[in-house]
Amino acid sequence: MKKVSVRRTISIAFMLMVGLFMVNSFAFAQVKPKIAILATGGTIAGVGQSEVGSAYKSGAITVDKLLAAVPQINNIATVQGEQVVQIGSQDMNDMVWLKLAKRINELAKTDVQAFVITHGTDTQEETAYFLNLVLKTDKPVVLVGAMRASTAISADGPKNLYDAVSCAIDPTSKGRGVMIIMNDKILGADDVTKTMTTAVETFACPNYGPLGIMYNGKPMYTRTSMKKHTVKSEFSVDNLSELPRVEIIYGYSNVTPLFVDAAVKAGVKGIVYAGVGNGNPSTTLQDALVSARKSGIAIVRSSRVFSGPTSQFDEVDDEKCEFAASWYKNPQKARVLLMLALTKTDNYKEIQRMFIEY
Ligand code: ASP
Repeated sequence: MKKVSVRRTISIAFMLMVGLFMVNSFAFAQVKPKIAILATGGTIAGVGQSEVGSAYKSGAITVDKLLAAVPQINNIATVQGEQVVQIGSQDMNDMVWLKLAKRINELAKTDVQAFVITHGTDTQEETAYFLNLVLKTDKPVVLVGAMRASTAISADGPKNLYDAVSCAIDPTSKGRGVMIIMNDKILGADDVTKTMTTAVETFACPNYGPLGIMYNGKPMYTRTSMKKHTVKSEFSVDNLSELPRVEIIYGYSNVTPLFVDAAVKAGVKGIVYAGVGNGNPSTTLQDALVSARKSGIAIVRSSRVFSGPTSQFDEVDDEKCEFAASWYKNPQKARVLLMLALTKTDNYKEIQRMFIEY
C-alpha cells in the first residue's frame, strides 16, 4: 500500500515536471521575435576561388545557406528568409529599391517584428538611405554586408549577420530609422558611407558619428538621428512604378560642360553636381548648370570632398541660380533624395527645404 502511494507520488511529480518543462519551452518559443531576412546578394553571399585570394563571385549563395552558416540566430529569433534578388550591389537599381520598399511596407503590417537586409557593401549606403525615406514603419530595419566572401578565412559575414539580427530584435532599436551594422558599429542611414575599398573597417558616419556599437550581442546606442525618416517622411513608394532620372556629374580642374550637356540631351530630371570644395562649379560649369536649370532640370550642389557640409550662402549664389545645396548629403545620397523630391516638386526652394530636413 505504502509502496503504491510512493510510486504514484513519484509519477505525479514526474508528470508535473514534464508539464512544466513543456509549458516553459512553449512560452520560450512564443517569446522569440519574428524577423524577416531579405537577401539581395553581395560579398556576404560571395564565394571565393581560394580561402585567401581576392577573386570571388558576389551573391553566389542563397539566403538559406547564409542562415545555415549562423545557426545561433535560431536561438534568438524566428526567421523567415526571402531572396529578393541575387546580385552584386554594383548592379543595384531603382526597380529593386521599389520592390524591396514595397515588400517591407507590406510585411510591416503583419506580425513580423523586424527586418534585416543582406546587401553588397558597394551601394549599401544608398539602399539604406532610400529605405530610410520611404518605409512606413518604426519597426527596426537593419542592412548588413561583409567585406570578405563567405568562403574566406575569418569571413566577417556571420558575425555581422548575427549582430544585425540581435540589433533588429532589440526593443531599443525601434523608431531609429534604417541602420547598417558592420564590424560592431551601428551606423545611421542618413550619414553612413563606405570609406575604404577593401578593409573590414570600412563604414563610417563622417559627419554625425555612429549611432552606437554592438557589444556582446546587444546594441548600445549613444546618439539618435535628428533627421526626418520613415513614419515622419513625406515620401512614399505607394504609387510609384519608377523614379525620376537623376545623374551625378563630377567636378575637377579643367572641367568642361560635356557631361552637363549630355545629361540635358538625355532628358534627365535632375543633376547632382559633385563639385570641388564646398560644392563649387567652375565658371563655365556654373553657366551650363544655370542653363540646365532654366530648361527645367533640378540642380543640387554636393561635394566630392569626403565630409562636411555643402552649404548655402558661400561662394555660389544658389538663390540667383535656383540651385539647392545638399548640406550633409554626399553626391550618391543627394541623388536618392533628389529623385524622391522630384516625385513631389521641382521647386528649388522646396527641394532645399528637403535637403535641410532629411
Ligand atoms: N561588389 C560587392 C557588392 O557590393 C562588394 C561587397 O559586397 O562588399 O555586392
